[in-house]
Amino acid sequence: MPIEVQNVNAQQYVDSEDEPKEACGIVGIYAPTRDVARLTFFALYALQHRGQESAGIVTCDPRGAHIHKGMGLVSQVFNEENLSTLEGSLAIGHNRYSTTGTSKLRNAQPYLIETYLGPLGVAHNGNLVNAPQLRRELLQRGTGLSSSSDSEVITQLLAGGTGTWEERILHVLDQAVGAYALTILTRDAVYGVRDPWGFRPLVLGKFDNDDYVLASESCALTTIGATYVREVDPGEIVRIDANGIYSVQSTNRKAMALCTFEHIYFARPDSLFADTTIHALRQSLGRVLAQESPADADCVVAVPDSGTPAGIGFAQESGLPFTEGLIKNRYIGRTFIQPTDALRKTAVGLKFNPLPGNLTGKRVVMVDDSIVRGNTSGPLVRLLRESGATEVHVRVSSPPIKHPCYMGIDMAASEDLIANQMTIEQIREKIGADSLAYLSLEGLMSVVSTRKHGYCNACFTGVYPFPVFNDSDSQDKLQFEGAFGS
Ligand code: 5GP
Ligand code: MG
Repeated sequence: MPIEVQNVNAQQYVDSEDEPKEACGIVGIYAPTRDVARLTFFALYALQHRGQESAGIVTCDPRGAHIHKGMGLVSQVFNEENLSTLEGSLAIGHNRYSTTGTSKLRNAQPYLIETYLGPLGVAHNGNLVNAPQLRRELLQRGTGLSSSSDSEVITQLLAGGTGTWEERILHVLDQAVGAYALTILTRDAVYGVRDPWGFRPLVLGKFDNDDYVLASESCALTTIGATYVREVDPGEIVRIDANGIYSVQSTNRKAMALCTFEHIYFARPDSLFADTTIHALRQSLGRVLAQESPADADCVVAVPDSGTPAGIGFAQESGLPFTEGLIKNRYIGRTFIQPTDALRKTAVGLKFNPLPGNLTGKRVVMVDDSIVRGNTSGPLVRLLRESGATEVHVRVSSPPIKHPCYMGIDMAASEDLIANQMTIEQIREKIGADSLAYLSLEGLMSVVSTRKHGYCNACFTGVYPFPVFNDSDSQDKLQFEGAFGS
């Protein structure tokens, strides 16, 4: 069966130190009675917050597989013309996120290759920690690789495996260490896979007949008129094909380690996690924060948009009015923040404007969801003061981020994480706040923890669910990149 490769966007990006760390959005749809490319497009559109650097869709019909992918937002990559070429009754889609290094089309997903069993498309959200080792093994076996991405490694492991697709996927679940939510397209089925730890989210939805859809977050289901069925379990493989839905559970199931940062920052507020909306959960984080670290102030201002639910919760709990003090330019996507620190700093002023009328003469509590590198809070505190705030008390609805993430969230290296380098008092001084308090880990867990889930809190605690890279391994990773660095 031939693979028909549609013309991929001609835009070329040239750089030498791309380091893909991806917390992306993925979709998989099996719906013979529907326009799957269009549905995938709109599902990706709903998941745009999970990745703005590239987007792609693969579909499959009896003639073969069709792909279109390119750099940029979903709405920039797709149009009526290229969507109409994506025919078939099954599809997968991907939004890629990476704030480190320039993006390259070569790393854009899904991957699509021809295999012994027909076309294979793979969309991956996450990051493998043993990718260098798996790469080496593939290269030693004579498998060529065309990008620096660990997602291509997964694709080649599947292509080079033996047995049915289920057997091959189960084998990958045994070999791959790290975070990987996957949607996989073959000639006649779409698969959804979640790594044995369940780091990244993946949910199953259903249309009003027997058509099913898989997506990173439930917000994508709502957008395309599907209803939420359930989460895909850690280590579970869900297959959707003409016979309906079928599930296999890997025996390699680990203690669940859902990323808490999905709750704190990454996921969309209207998405469901463990049957609660992220918005309600973030509001509760704000409430607990107000109990733990109240502030003697006149009003609460949130850093929009991700800090807003926690700001509302903080205001409710403390009995202070919630006021809009900062207006965000919503046309600047998260990608606008370029990886270099200098650009990150100027970006704050372009992203937020104050509302002095709400701030003059007020003692303000400024609530944000997280401080990562520490480039955002300082300029915002200054902005509030310049707009007439007499005091600014910063409250953060997550614990201090001290350790890098190897499981797919771009958090930077330890030395770039401000809480790794400074005490809370030093950070307060640096950002020029009258007071600064973070939510405690206990406070965080009191809100997010349910009987159903275990969590990964490695960025706060430094306790990783498995041994992670040491520095020489990361070097290794960059060397691989070097081979593709032009
Ligand atoms: P900082 O300047 O401390 O590095 O950034 C903290 C701000 O960035 C917070 O407002 C938070 O909502 C946001 N933020 C947290 N994680 C991420 C991320 O992974 N990517 C981007 N672009 N922003 C983030
Ligand atoms: Mg924010």
